[in-house]
Amino acid sequence: MTFTVRENVPLSQYTTLKVGGRARYFIEVKTMEDLEKAGQFASQTALPFLVLGGGSNLLISDHGFAGVVIFNQIKGREYKDNGDGTSILSVQAGEVFDEVIADTVSRGLWGLENLSSIPGTVGATPIQNVGAYGVEVSELIIAVETYHLLTGIKKVFEKSECNFGYRDSFFKTTEGKGYVITAVHFKLSTIPAPKIKYADLAKRFNEIKPNQLEIREAIVDIRSKKFPDWHLVGTAGSFFKNPIISLAESEILSSFYPDLPIYKTEDGMVKISLGYVLDKICNLKGYREGDVQLYTEQALVLVNYGSENADEIKKIC
Ligand SMILES: Cc1cc2nc3c(=O)[nH]c(=O)nc-3n(C[C@H](O)[C@H](O)[C@H](O)COP(=O)(O)OP(=O)(O)OC[C@H]3O[C@@H](n4cnc5c(N)ncnc54)[C@H](O)[C@@H]3O)c2cc1C
Repeated sequence: MTFTVRENVPLSQYTTLKVGGRARYFIEVKTMEDLEKAGQFASQTALPFLVLGGGSNLLISDHGFAGVVIFNQIKGREYKDNGDGTSILSVQAGEVFDEVIADTVSRGLWGLENLSSIPGTVGATPIQNVGAYGVEVSELIIAVETYHLLTGIKKVFEKSECNFGYRDSFFKTTEGKGYVITAVHFKLSTIPAPKIKYADLAKRFNEIKPNQLEIREAIVDIRSKKFPDWHLVGTAGSFFKNPIISLAESEILSSFYPDLPIYKTEDGMVKISLGYVLDKICNLKGYREGDVQLYTEQALVLVNYGSENADEIKKIC
């Protein structure tokens, strides 16, 4: 397909929440050359731009986006065996993350299996440092390739420059938002390293040491019970972050709610389960306003059962 700029494209079909107005301009990019042309177009129009991956972490206003939406479909992946039990996986940003994970598992490479079943593209994973079941992508990323859409400069960010935090990175800052992520490099391992401390996994595997495929299958199964099928209903998954509080504050909370799941972070703080707080303390599991609900199986998960109104979703958040 040649480079095409479409106009007034409805965005609701590109987001898993299934809401959102129209994009003034919409460009699907399949090559770096397309991306460069899209950058030139955005500069010429002097309009804001938005990079769109799988749309699984986006709430787009009913008024749409009065700028240039760049739909990233640049694909490709490459493995390099380091000969020391590790491999470097380099993936173009438009690849579907879960397809990449399935591929790593089939090759017997360890690292990404706990992140199975998370929707979206590889290019979006560094932005909020995607994480689940005790693993964050930042633990595996060694570098992120970018293209600055307005200056046209290509820059490789080493992991240390990405400023990864809990669901956070440099790419979420005002300065970072100018960069389009074009590829991500992960370091994986052939040496077995099952991460199964998370309660749901620990329970399943008890005394057994699972392989990557068993972990992936367990996670796909667990997640299918906690999340609605995003192909069928509108959802952006866990819409709320788990709060991080001081150890002293967590001790007070735990004295009232001894079952409250808590996880100590590396910097001495404590992450508490907001799912528990919403469910057991606030009694909000299943809470519904119109078509929007805190999912009956997991209160952290926001579900849209048919609203075409982004404001209705925003209200409940
Ligand atoms: C059912 C469900 C379950 C989920 N579970 C989890 C989970 O367990 N853990 C978790 O961390 N997240 C989870 N998510 C959230 C979401 O899947 C991730 O944040 C995912 O990485 C978003 O990818 P995407 O391609 O859909 O990004 P989009 O929604 O398209 O974009 C998200 C943001 O990233 C920007 N962006 C996207 N691609 C690029 C790029 N190449 N360069 C620069 N900016 C870019 C966009 O502009 C936007 O600001 C879940 C979502 C759903 C619907």
